[in-house]
Amino acid sequence: MGSASSSSRVIYLDVDGRIQKVVFSRFCSPCDIKELFCTALGVPRTTNLSLLDSSGAMVSIDPTMPHNTERSPYRVVPVTSGQLADKEELFQNVLTQVAEQFSRAFKINELKTEVTNRLAMLEKRVELEGMKVVEIEKCHNDIKKLREEMASRNNSNFLEDNKKLTPRRDVPSYPKMLSCLEHMYHDLGLVKDFNINPITLKRWLLCIHDNYRNNPFHNFRHCFCVTQMMYSMICLCSLQEKFTQLDILILMTAAVCHDLDHPGFNNTYQINARTELAVRYNDISPLENHHCAVAFQIFSQPDCNIFSNFDPEAFKQIRQGTITLILATDMARHGEILDSFKQKVDNFDYADEEHITCLKMVLIKCCDISNEVRPMEVAEPWVDCLLEEYFMQSDREKAEGLPVAPFMDREKVTKPTAQIGFIKFVLIPMFETVLKLFPQIEEAMVQPLRESRDRYEELKQIDDAMNEVQKKKSENLTMGGKKK
Ligand SMILES: [Zn+2]
Repeated sequence: MGSASSSSRVIYLDVDGRIQKVVFSRFCSPCDIKELFCTALGVPRTTNLSLLDSSGAMVSIDPTMPHNTERSPYRVVPVTSGQLADKEELFQNVLTQVAEQFSRAFKINELKTEVTNRLAMLEKRVELEGMKVVEIEKCHNDIKKLREEMASRNNSNFLEDNKKLTPRRDVPSYPKMLSCLEHMYHDLGLVKDFNINPITLKRWLLCIHDNYRNNPFHNFRHCFCVTQMMYSMICLCSLQEKFTQLDILILMTAAVCHDLDHPGFNNTYQINARTELAVRYNDISPLENHHCAVAFQIFSQPDCNIFSNFDPEAFKQIRQGTITLILATDMARHGEILDSFKQKVDNFDYADEEHITCLKMVLIKCCDISNEVRPMEVAEPWVDCLLEEYFMQSDREKAEGLPVAPFMDREKVTKPTAQIGFIKFVLIPMFETVLKLFPQIEEAMVQPLRESRDRYEELKQIDDAMNEVQKKKSENLTMGGKKK
């Protein structure tokens, strides 16, 4: 121990006003000396120190550091503490900033979520609008194609001279029926004039299609044929020159809706079997009342309401007009309606609302039973469909012990017998009365009816002759048996 040896160095430190003598070997490392100073200061050994002389100049801490005396001690400043404070402050600042950043990040996240949501909404809207545009575009294309197709089928004078228009007698394939109906509404100017939403028109027609049952006869194809015949008559008879567009809309819409949800069994069955429909409508045209009710149930759905842009007065008119026409399709009222029309036809007055209504009723009746106006190859399968539906009913009537009409009885009716009477006594008289107002239907509609009547009469003669031969054969056989 003792005093400092020659290998020792003595340094005086000022530790908070107190003089501290520090002795260390000149072979000590600067790190050792610093640790020694820390001990003298009473701070952790890892603390960084600054050594300042009396002039405030910094002195390096190492074994060769300048010598000093008790009167000129070095001031030891734990620089680290000051720097730490700075660092702490810096750290705090950093923390604050980070916190702010976080907070901002959270806010940004909120904002981001909102923006994402809004974007999704916009995208959805764009998508929907896009779909609408696509759908409308498709609609336009369909119509364009149909126009071209119809023009080519009806040869060149289709577009040049409307008066030479003949009703389209062929029935298009199933997928085209909806597009054709849609086209008719566009072509007659109904979509434009009544500001009908073209998408609603599509949805309405789809809904109509879904509300026709799969009966042998009273199905959507029948609805199509009746409406197509109406469209043809509107064109052929230039009805748009005589009727208001509202009348045209009523004629078309009544045709589309006229057999909605037909159950395949007629009013007689409904009344005799005391069905729910007969009870609901007190035996008064139960089916036709039901078709009307279903039609207006469909219109009550906003998605399918093609009249949504109508003011209440216009809607009232379309409703009343459509109901009147659909109710007129009850064949039980045939005589009454035709008689009323016959009384008006010789002095027909287009300014008289009653005359117009009566004509519209006759027109929908003509269209409803117009199959025989079409070419034989189209008309004949319809007779099979009708008989199939009739036989279904008569079989059920027999099973339920209800009266059976002879024209529906599979034991009593044949195609020629079913058609001859109907063409001769119902169709031709009605079409010939309409002919008085519209001579242009003679060639296109009345003549085919006469031809159809003649054809079925020939068929009946053949049938009768065959039956006669058959009868004689069996008679001969019986007589031969007796001779034996
Ligand atoms: Zn019908």
